[in-house]
Amino acid sequence: MLLIELTGVQSHTGKSSCSKCDQIGDYKERRVCFSKQIKNLRTDLSFKNRNDRSHHITPFKFRESILESGNFKMVSQFPLDPMHLVDLGVCKMLLQLLIKKSNINVSKINEKITFLSNLVPSEFGRICRSLDDINIWKATEFRQFLLYIGIFVLKDCVSGDHYYHFLLLHAGIRLLSCKKSYSSEANVAQQILEEFVDLFGNIYGDHLVNYNIHGLLHLTECTKLYGPLDNFSAYKFENHMQFLKKLINKLNKILQQLHLRLEERNSADFSCNKISKINSFNIDYKKEKDSYCFSKKLGPIKVIGMAGESGSAIVSAHCFFCVESYFQEPLESSTGLGILLANKLDPQLFKIEKDYIVYKYFSIPHEGKFLLIPILHHLFHEFSN
Ligand SMILES: [Zn+2]
Repeated sequence: MLLIELTGVQSHTGKSSCSKCDQIGDYKERRVCFSKQIKNLRTDLSFKNRNDRSHHITPFKFRESILESGNFKMVSQFPLDPMHLVDLGVCKMLLQLLIKKSNINVSKINEKITFLSNLVPSEFGRICRSLDDINIWKATEFRQFLLYIGIFVLKDCVSGDHYYHFLLLHAGIRLLSCKKSYSSEANVAQQILEEFVDLFGNIYGDHLVNYNIHGLLHLTECTKLYGPLDNFSAYKFENHMQFLKKLINKLNKILQQLHLRLEERNSADFSCNKISKINSFNIDYKKEKDSYCFSKKLGPIKVIGMAGESGSAIVSAHCFFCVESYFQEPLESSTGLGILLANKLDPQLFKIEKDYIVYKYFSIPHEGKFLLIPILHHLFHEFSN
């Protein structure tokens, strides 16, 4: 609500609410829905000139909002937020519809989620809760399901058409989330997301193509301005809220308390001294869940020992005999997303420098093989099979 007043535009339930194009929604079955195409793109100038006055709420149809008067570029500087749009929006709705409208095997899916609980790499908090609790899942649980475990959990528990449709969302969002692929594979991601939106209407009904589903069509354009999805997601702000909450001791004069505590920390030079952990990850060969990695020299490996200082450590590891794609459509998972189905380990032991390890996997035992899913926040490196 606050953002609406700051920007002066319609909320996501309005017919002219798309902040990126001037498509006017329809009212069907008591909800606003959009077509599956992008209409004329809004620009900072068209916003300023009020080319589409229906997009603006009263009294901002004829005057600037507080942010606009602060010289913000009201279209290009307001990217769509992937946390609310994709995780809490599209992914939540998709799973709720799957439960409600298809012959989904909920108990089998819950069993699979429980099975994964001890396999979650230390980079994640914990596995998401069961589908019975989906209405109270947090955004990070939807994110984990969409980007990592959903491809395993839903396989053989939903129809082939529903599974393929989920893979479209998984692949499109993974391509745009990955530092390596968001730019080079932007066109592929856009095509995949367009197919997802198109099929969404066919499978679940055109009246359910809402603001969030339509918004997927504009995500690729946002990444061209701001980089991979995490760069402009609300997660970092939500996480910072935890820090701010810890500074509050009582419920009145909250802003004053925050101001004083932050001033104290600044004067004591507490601020911003933490060493960045971007691109760092934990390899712990004693824990199965933290020992599967990708090495520039050897490909996918299982680390079984380590010696030496962290910077120049020598790692003992087994390679995998052969790897294949986990899925072939909508794109080859091995070359497009780095997601592999690996066969047995080579008994030969290799020794390499730890620096050759470039990313880590979320590893899931699967029918005698290993499903290896790259952990996205490590990825700068090209995929290889
Ligand atoms: Zn639009």
